[in-house]
Amino acid sequence: MQAFFDSVLSLIVQTSTNLPPDVRAAMKVALAEEPAATQSGQALNIIAQNIDQAADCEGAICQDTGMPTFEVKTPVGVNQIVLKKQIQEAVAEATRRGKLRPNSVDSITGENSGSNLGPGTPIIHFEQWENANEIEVKLILKGGGCENMNAQYSLPAELPNLGRADRTLEGVRKCILHAVWNAQGKGCAPGAVGVCIGGDRTSGYVHAKEQLFRTLDDVNGDARLAELEASIMGEVNKLGIGAMGFGGRVSLIGCKVGAMNRLPASFFVSVAYDCWAFRRLGVVLDARTGAIARWLYRDPSSPVVAMADQAGFQRTGREVVLKTPLTEEQMRSLKVGDVVLLSGLVYTGRDAVHAHLMKHDPPVDLRGAVIYHCGPVVAKDGDGWRVTAAGPTTSIREEPYQADIIKRYGVRVVIGKGGMGAKTLGALKETGAVYLNAIGGAAQFYARTITKVAGVSLLEFGTPEAMWHLQVDAFPAIVTMDAHGNSLHKDIETASASVLASIGS
Ligand code: SF4
Repeated sequence: MQAFFDSVLSLIVQTSTNLPPDVRAAMKVALAEEPAATQSGQALNIIAQNIDQAADCEGAICQDTGMPTFEVKTPVGVNQIVLKKQIQEAVAEATRRGKLRPNSVDSITGENSGSNLGPGTPIIHFEQWENANEIEVKLILKGGGCENMNAQYSLPAELPNLGRADRTLEGVRKCILHAVWNAQGKGCAPGAVGVCIGGDRTSGYVHAKEQLFRTLDDVNGDARLAELEASIMGEVNKLGIGAMGFGGRVSLIGCKVGAMNRLPASFFVSVAYDCWAFRRLGVVLDARTGAIARWLYRDPSSPVVAMADQAGFQRTGREVVLKTPLTEEQMRSLKVGDVVLLSGLVYTGRDAVHAHLMKHDPPVDLRGAVIYHCGPVVAKDGDGWRVTAAGPTTSIREEPYQADIIKRYGVRVVIGKGGMGAKTLGALKETGAVYLNAIGGAAQFYARTITKVAGVSLLEFGTPEAMWHLQVDAFPAIVTMDAHGNSLHKDIETASASVLASIGS
């Protein structure tokens, strides 16, 4: 079984760097739907360019390579203890090679293991099958931004804008619509949902995630569930959430529903929300050698079809060019909808940095500075560092801290994805600062705007959580919260809520 390790390593590398054909096809349809000059259209063009760049350089499509989740089927008699160890070694090797970001964090101490190994990570589910000659290994990499948008409903329930959801398929339909509406752009829309009707709280979520192993274009074998899936796909895009929650025609690229028996007293609907960076592949291996007999979801002999037919992100000439450090006057001149091309120094900061700054002075002067909500993939490069993937992370997690940090230290720009809340919006208005929405998951695209890693602080938090000092050139992002109290996120949420009420009733 010497080849088993190599086969699993190939599976991990391909899953992290090359989107499967069914997801590419769905994203092509989304691209064709959205007019190129709209904010959603621009976001999708950057995403398309990013998908191509990741496949070309075998780099991570998104810097958040997620929770590696393996589904393995083996013949009777195969030693699953050995396979588990080799899968873990392949995960550690893929992490060493920068194909996976170190994502395994001790929940008590906050320490990152650095290898993606630790209690509960990676997730490996084994099952035996009758096939005596082959082993099947499927892998999904689902990041934290979309994982945080998962939802579980206990029916009957009263749902905002939708009214009562009963223990019926109509009630399930309302739950799915609510979950997609609630995710807005925070899970990097357009997304796909896997849904489980029934089970208990734990098995429901597992089965919902398992639905994401189905291809986006398959048709449910159960006619009742096929009808439900079709009805969701026929209605959900009327919500107008669009790519990244910028408003637009495509909010969801797939809905897959399964059902399990339940206890008489319980009726759970579990929704697993995945983002556009829907990384899922599989291999079938020779059970004797562990060598790859064939790939699932993709045909390696077919050439990869490019996503971006033009040059990806197109400049219109109306972009606002900014260079750090930034002034209050510059920020007050910006308004929601402006596209900015930012150059100069930006500082990454996410959960650990924000919690730290509430109690300690910043390690650098943040007056006029840019904080980028980003946990990059970083590799050692001689004595320095090189960023290999650097898209934005979900900003709302920093809502409890952001307003204080902006006011206390004079920060002028916060970059992230998905938008922030009323407290941050108030601080932007009070001090003269803006929130820029970068395109979630466009990790390769943004890594190419970084010309130099100028330094790093707080490296003891681990590479994703450290404060990286990044020199960027023409980093594009959209003003979605300005210094005049306007928020595109608030506007889209309100508008989509009234559509939700009309299609849900
Ligand atoms: S595309 Fe967005 S939601 Fe998906 S893994 Fe990347 S950052 Fe997270």
